[in-house]
Amino acid sequence: KTFQHCGFDKLLMGAIAKAGYEKPTPIQAQALPAALSGRDVLGIAKTGSGKTAAFVLPMLVHIMDQAELNKGEGPIGIIVAPTRELSEQIHKETRKFSKPYNLRVCAAFGGLSKYEQMKDLKAGSEVAVCTPGRMIDLIKTKACTMLRATYLVFDEADRMFDMGFEPQVRSLIGQIRPDRQTLLFSATMPNKVERLVRDALTSPVRITV
Ligand code: AMP
Repeated sequence: KTFQHCGFDKLLMGAIAKAGYEKPTPIQAQALPAALSGRDVLGIAKTGSGKTAAFVLPMLVHIMDQAELNKGEGPIGIIVAPTRELSEQIHKETRKFSKPYNLRVCAAFGGLSKYEQMKDLKAGSEVAVCTPGRMIDLIKTKACTMLRATYLVFDEADRMFDMGFEPQVRSLIGQIRPDRQTLLFSATMPNKVERLVRDALTSPVRITV
């Protein structure tokens, strides 16, 4: 399996090469074709497996495929992670791969100015990388609408639940149109996470690495 098999365009292949990625990691080899075909994905994998690119690359293809890219407002891709540190890492990785498309990636997590985040969202970021609490906050203050969101990712769902974010996670899901594509990654699968998968994902492709 190679990245060429994924059908990525020249711009994205260039960004992948620039990142120094020669071939997909096992989670990428399995998750990329599933996500690129539009299926929901449940990935049981730990940090270090390369799971970030497994959900970021198909998200960029999804966004560039949207004929309605310039219409409407609010982010198209939403990536939710439990902590500021993880969100920052994902934000960096997403910016790296979205650069050739000139997509705007907004960070929405604690520790950064809420005012700046609201400005970025209003200005029309196509992607938001967030923690659940801050995202709900921004939606409540009407700084962000979820009307255009069609690609939703939960990363480290088990940690998110350990930290008590289940209400925020469920509230967020309630704000996003049900015909979205949803990807969920978790290192472990406690009952709570299984329940969320049943409630929020549609016939997901289940991948374990
Ligand atoms: P992650 O599990 O997404 O946090 O990725 C762990 C590390 O592996 C990060 O530093 C990535 O940049 C790197 N990485 C991800 N995919 C690949 C790949 N296909 N080839 C080489 N390095 C990779």
